[in-house]
Amino acid sequence: MVKNNDALSEALDTLADAGISFIVTGEGRYGSMWQFILTKEDALEYCRDPATVMARHHGIGRDQFIAWFDSDRSVICSARTTQGRRCRNPVRGGYQDCGPREWVELQGGYCPVHGG
Ligand SMILES: [Zn+2]
Repeated sequence: MVKNNDALSEALDTLADAGISFIVTGEGRYGSMWQFILTKEDALEYCRDPATVMARHHGIGRDQFIAWFDSDRSVICSARTTQGRRCRNPVRGGYQDCGPREWVELQGGYCPVHGG
């Protein structure tokens, strides 16, 4: 395991020394959502644990990034209907292909019907 990491680190050194950049792209339903240029250290960490590196670049927690990744990328209203069921409407701005940080920030919000 350590040997593999050393080999990977050496390979990344070789690429970086040759002037090659490390860019990671996030793909959403409607195309590219983001691009980050990774340092060599980030690229090495990304190979082992992409969620940690992506969470850090988005300014959110690793668990939040994983929750976003596993979600349908929309945010549902937090209100209860008069029948006691959870409202199924999207929060304002939460019905599209939300990026990770936006998705986290919209959690707990309300749809326009419920004051959002
Ligand atoms: Zn609602």
